[in-house]
Amino acid sequence: MDEASHFGLRVAAHAHAADGIKNAIRAGVASVEHATLIDDEGIALAKQHGTYLVMDIYDDECIQEQGKNGTMPADFLEHDRELGEVQRQNFRKALKAGVKLAFGTDAGVCAYGTSARQFAFMVRYGMTPMQAIQAATSAAADLIGRSNEFGSIKPGKYADVIAVSGDPLKDVRLLENVQFVMKDGLVYKQE
Ligand SMILES: [Zn+2]
Repeated sequence: MDEASHFGLRVAAHAHAADGIKNAIRAGVASVEHATLIDDEGIALAKQHGTYLVMDIYDDECIQEQGKNGTMPADFLEHDRELGEVQRQNFRKALKAGVKLAFGTDAGVCAYGTSARQFAFMVRYGMTPMQAIQAATSAAADLIGRSNEFGSIKPGKYADVIAVSGDPLKDVRLLENVQFVMKDGLVYKQE
């Protein structure tokens, strides 16, 4: 943290256990990824420090699915399923406590291109569709300190826009099927 601060950089810590999470928050990280076993004290600390939690609550679906091919021991899979459920309940707790939450998936656990499936899980565990969308846009931009450039659609920001058919506030799973992609004003996908 000290070295990063000399360069004006932010630090993200990947942490699962309660003590590691609290050590990271106290040291001043910008975000804790996973935050699987965060306890009440950790939630209070995150709130107090304004630390983002980036909880990959969809990933366990992919681990369990990959486990069906028999390459992972059954006791590992069972343990992982329990941890996954604890993480989801802790996501709900952190949300209720008003902790800042940003969308993140520990990319690579699930197949690339499937990240949007997490939106439905964030809604299932307590967010409104709008909160889930903001976690992936304005909150994510705030976390990395780039709110002036992206995270919302305003004059002067990068014209990074996606569109889907229908209203994702009514059915957040519509975001799993993106029909239009514009990046920095250029259209990359239009169906
Ligand atoms: Zn990780």
